[in-house]
Formats: sequence, C-alpha cells, structure tokens
Amino acid sequence: MLSGKTAIITGSNSGIGLGAARELARAGADVVLNSFTDSEADHKLAADLGAEFGVKARYIQADMSKGEDCRALVEKAGGCDILVNNAGIQHVAAIEDFPVEKWNAIIAINLTSAFHTTAAALPGMRAKGWGRIVNIASAHGLTASPFKSAYVAAKHGVVGLTKTVALEVAGKGITANAICPGYVLTPLVEAQIPDQMKAHSMDRETVIREVMLQRQPSRQFATVEEIGGTAVFLCSDAAAQITGTTISVDGGWTAM
Ligand code: NAD
Repeated sequence: MLSGKTAIITGSNSGIGLGAARELARAGADVVLNSFTDSEADHKLAADLGAEFGVKARYIQADMSKGEDCRALVEKAGGCDILVNNAGIQHVAAIEDFPVEKWNAIIAINLTSAFHTTAAALPGMRAKGWGRIVNIASAHGLTASPFKSAYVAAKHGVVGLTKTVALEVAGKGITANAICPGYVLTPLVEAQIPDQMKAHSMDRETVIREVMLQRQPSRQFATVEEIGGTAVFLCSDAAAQITGTTISVDGGWTAM
C-alpha cells in the first residue's frame, strides 16, 4: 500500500515511534528511524526492521531538541512522503517546582521539533503533490492533568500546529493530522510507575488500574501496534480528506 513512499519517524528507537515505523514498514514504506543517540544498536534496529519487512530502513541520528538537527534529519533523508512527529519526553511536577530546563526541553522536543521538521519536509511534499504529516499528540492535547504543565501545553500546541499546517496545504494532496493516544505502555509510561507507586502507596498492578488507567474507561493500555495502525490508516487513500483533525486512541478517555 505504501511501497515507494519514504517515512521519517522522529524518536523511533523505542515505544510508539518504533511501533509506528514497524506498521509503516509492514505496509511497504521505506523508513527512517531516529533518535538523539548514535549507537550500533540503533543502526542494527533499522537494519533488522528493513530485513523483516523487505523495505529500505535507515537510522539517522538527530537531536529533536535542536532546530538545526530537526531540519538536517529531513535533508539527510532526502525528504520524505510521510512525516511522523513522535519524539517526546515527559516531566511531572507542580508548576511552582517545575524546573525551567525541563519546561524548555519538553516544549523543544514535543512541539518545536514538529515545526522544524514540517517546515523542512513540506517543499518536497508540495513538489510531489502528495504528503502525510502525522503528529503524535496525546489525550493531553485535548484535556489536562495536574503536574504535567509543559507536556499538556506542548501537546495542545501540537494540535494547534496540526490544524494550521492542514489549512496551509489544503487541496495540495497533503494532509496533517494528530493521533491522540491515551496511556500506552512504553518506556515513557513505565518510567512514571515507580513515582506513582510511591505517591499513592500502592503496588504496581493497583496503581496501573486505579490511578494511571483511572481516566481510561477501557482500563486497558492502548498498544504501539494500534497507534501505528492508525498512522497507516491516515496515510491510506481512504484518509485523503481527513485533515486538520485529531484521532483519539484512548479507550474512551476523552469521551468522559
Ligand atoms: P518513549 O520514551 O518510548 O519514546 C520516546 C522516543 O523519543 C524515544 O525513541 C526517544 O529516544 C526519543 N527522543 C527523546 N528525546 C529525543 C530527542 N531529543 N531527539 C530525538 N529523539 C528523542 O515514549 P513513547 O511513550 O513511545 O512516546 C512517544 C510519543 O508518544 C511522545 O511524543 C509521547 O508524548 C506520545 N504519547 C505517549 C503516550 C504513552 O502513554 N506512552 C500517550 C500519549 C502520547
């Protein structure tokens, strides 16, 4: 379905980004994996993924907290047909105690990187008359939780950026949409579990069910395959007129 297309997925040596890369490759796209590290394991991950799905797969190091790296990623990839802006980090603290450097890093990686990569990718997409921009926002792009000020602000920003890009490219064969996952069990979420266990004096299973998935009516994590599959759908012909919108994959969280 996507053979002949090249997809760049930012922040894709782990979690949702890797899941999205795998589903896009399964659908036939060549993929460019990315993170800020440049290890043998990163390059092997791409080589193995390419071999598994019979597509071209490369790993390109670029730090999504730096604008010049974001633009260089697109340039080194030779442009792309599909851009998945996924890189993201989290920090949880009350706003009065929120470290400024954490705020700046979250805004840079979770929001500003998508501005830079989109700006770099659009000329090539316009020239081809085809492009798909899929931004991985969050349920926190539509609603808030306490102690996640930077993350919620960045993710609301991603939704706003998505709408604006969609309007700027409307009718040019290019769409821009945001996927809004609820909780997906990835390293980003795994890292929050010990703090939550401590804060609530609960064991792992109880804190997952009663605290973390408390707002997710299904009481089930979404999977990286489900998020990746949604990205593939947004790249399909059926989604050609879906643009400037959000798709929630959140077990009912934002229906409440
Ligand atoms: P993760 O920690 O598994 O993956 C994050 C990825 O971003 C990793 O590949 C990491 O290497 C990369 N990354 C971090 N900083 C980077 C930088 N400076 N430059 C380049 N890459 C960088 O987390 P995840 O849960 O897979 O999160 C992926 C995205 O999905 C994030 O934007 C996150 O906000 C979003 N999201 C996650 C959940 C969830 O429950 N896991 C829910 C909603 C949205």
